[in-house]
Amino acid sequence: MNKIDNINFKGERAVIRVDYNVPIDENNKVTDLTRIKSSKETIQMVLKNGGSVVLLTHIGRPKGIDRRLSCSVILNSVSKVMGQNVIFCDETVGDLAEDAAAKLKPGQIMLMENVRFFKEETKGDLAFAKSLSKLGTVFINDAFGTAHRAHSSTTLIAKFFKQKYYGKLLEKEVNSINKVIEDGKKPKLAILGGAKISSKITIIESLMRSVDDILIGGGMAYTFIKAQGGLIGDSICELDFCDYALELIKKSKSIGVRMHLPTDVVIANSFSNNAKTHVSKIECIPKGWQGLDFGPESIQKIKPLILNSKTILWNGPLGVFELDAFSKGTIALGEFITKATSNGTFSLVGGGDSVAAVKKFGFFNKMSYVSTGGGAMLESLEGKVLPGLKALQK
Ligand code: AMP
Repeated sequence: MNKIDNINFKGERAVIRVDYNVPIDENNKVTDLTRIKSSKETIQMVLKNGGSVVLLTHIGRPKGIDRRLSCSVILNSVSKVMGQNVIFCDETVGDLAEDAAAKLKPGQIMLMENVRFFKEETKGDLAFAKSLSKLGTVFINDAFGTAHRAHSSTTLIAKFFKQKYYGKLLEKEVNSINKVIEDGKKPKLAILGGAKISSKITIIESLMRSVDDILIGGGMAYTFIKAQGGLIGDSICELDFCDYALELIKKSKSIGVRMHLPTDVVIANSFSNNAKTHVSKIECIPKGWQGLDFGPESIQKIKPLILNSKTILWNGPLGVFELDAFSKGTIALGEFITKATSNGTFSLVGGGDSVAAVKKFGFFNKMSYVSTGGGAMLESLEGKVLPGLKALQK
């Protein structure tokens, strides 16, 4: 891995691909600074070691120029986080952009306009990547959230630089994932929850190569129960995946990976905080009722499993945590992982909704690492080599 730690950036202008695709409210206010804060270490390291910085990012999915998604909207937030005035360039490529970049003095930071104002960006256009590369003398990728995309500014641009590096954020993300799939301490536990089994089922299979225990929670569990002949009432289920679920259960047994499913769940007669609720055995849910959270017995059962694990991956909530009535399982899980982490377990949390859950319930700073990239993390866990990372290899 080409790291930036001991690089002398004197006289260099570093083009850093960051991921500032941050949430912006109707008053043009950035409502979550996490992604901007996560890029600070890399930027400061370049500045401290004598360089200047040109920042490239996308915001949203604009179709052409869209002022609501201009990087000028986030400029003040970036300046505030960096503790200095960041210069804004309302161009992304071309003579004006190159001239502005060339004028940067050591210690200065310039934020370019949204790379996705150009359709060439997402097409992975080589000529556009070449134009972007003219903004600086070295390239650093620190945008883990888009590292699984072969776009011009995330991947192709690297071709045009002799010096190309992993930013500190990218380095941390890759190291954290490697702990789960390669070099972390055993026993290793993967917790997969959330709703969509179709988007995660192949990851379960890949993770079986690396972990000792797999805990399936949230809406995903019901497909496994249904596949084994259980009655799941109106709980969510993807029937097309029942056969695959059975195969996974069989495979886990044959290779000695323990698969854990909830034994009881909180069922409700509607998807609402005001619904009538009961605790039910997961395989005996009556029609008209749906399972929306882990039950008390299941919560108690997972406690020792979590406390005994030395490496934990958590992707996806154990229930509909957005509704108070069904958040107990996810909160208990967060508490158990917090306890394990304080006892030395390495815990990695990733995927949009789990990150939202750890933020909502105050666990964010209690996990070893919270990933900034949902899709990129899932693809890495599947064992795919992300194009953005591959492009950094010399
Ligand atoms: P995913 O994007 O697949 O990680 O799914 C996350 C979503 O799954 C969250 O919005 C949760 O509310 C939802 N979820 C978790 N458990 C259940 C469940 N038992 N039934 C329906 N949705 C669920």
